Amino acid sequence: KRVGYAVVGLGELTLGQIMPAFGNCKNSKVVALVSGSADKAKKVAMQYGVEQKKLYNYQNFDEIKNNPEIDAVYIVLPNAMHEEFVIRAAKAGKHVLCEKPMTVSSKSAERMIDACKKAGKKLMIAYRIQYEPNNRQMMQFARSHKFGKVKVITSVNVQNIGDPKQWRLHKALSGGGSLPDIGLYDINTNRFLLGEEPYMVNATTYSTPNDPRFKEVEEAVMFQMFFPSGVIANNTCSYGAHNSKHYRCYADNGGWFGMDPAFDYKGLMPEASQVMGKVQNKMQPKLQEENQFALEIDHFSECVIENKVPYTPGEEGLQDQKIMEAIYESARTGKPVNLERMDKLDTFR
Ligand code: NAD
Repeated sequence: KRVGYAVVGLGELTLGQIMPAFGNCKNSKVVALVSGSADKAKKVAMQYGVEQKKLYNYQNFDEIKNNPEIDAVYIVLPNAMHEEFVIRAAKAGKHVLCEKPMTVSSKSAERMIDACKKAGKKLMIAYRIQYEPNNRQMMQFARSHKFGKVKVITSVNVQNIGDPKQWRLHKALSGGGSLPDIGLYDINTNRFLLGEEPYMVNATTYSTPNDPRFKEVEEAVMFQMFFPSGVIANNTCSYGAHNSKHYRCYADNGGWFGMDPAFDYKGLMPEASQVMGKVQNKMQPKLQEENQFALEIDHFSECVIENKVPYTPGEEGLQDQKIMEAIYESARTGKPVNLERMDKLDTFR
């Protein structure tokens, strides 16, 4: 059986990545579209063979409950709209896959988790990196101590953001600047690589004075996360620098490993280095790339079919929301912030 999805929001990510990715899926298919623009929905439906009578808008969205072909809903809207549509989807009796960042606050994340629990429906956050084979290999290197025990991680996710009018630069829709949008990859991947939760963060934010893009949200965040095993992760995200998305894990035994690029949709490049005597051996242990979105969507479908908890459930998104709140607090107060003890999620493999 293929799990039937209603995709909500026909923006850049949906049209550029998600709709094409369904073509690579093995157990998932698009059966309905939800859009604010009837014309756009019609065109996209024609392109992908979705029936014209399976098109919904934001007002009549709740009618999806009467369509048994829709098993799950994939929410691909601006961040501040995720909560409303996740809750409405759950109330309509559908499982929900929600884009990252989960939402704009930890309280909101908790409401989303509660609503899905109450409805008896699954909730997964679309952390595609956790489904990507090369990043998964890095996770295995970290956890098996293949290059020694990791002591330090550096992780960078920067891009030069354009139009000052876009929703990403308006706090009411985005919840924040580069941190929730792209710094989130640093946070989530640090946690994924190590399989542990940080106990403290320390952070500074920066915005270029008078840059019209950064009136409401921050341009850059430099932040450290401290982990119980002794790992320090030193992370940077910025909306002001040319595209670069990479990380490196430095171990205690003459080796390091990482990815550059790490967070792109394709063209990912793993790299590693081990010192043997006086020689440094450099390697590129690249695995076959697969469509990350297809892997992620099919994982959720498998969880729906087999009634399993997804690798990246709502609780995974909630942890990141709490960490982001602590990062902003640290930047605001100029002091490190201790995180309330976070239990290790048992969904970490
Ligand atoms: P986008 O601006 O291209 O698309 C957003 C869609 O929401 C548009 O179709 C727009 O019409 C609709 N919309 C409805 N109400 C709106 C409003 N009030 N203001 C603005 N748009 C409104 O954005 P996107 O890049 O497709 O991002 C959508 C979501 O996907 C975000 O949560 C983003 O963080 C996430 N995303 C994830 C990845 C990833 O790699 N997983 C990549 C890009 C975006």
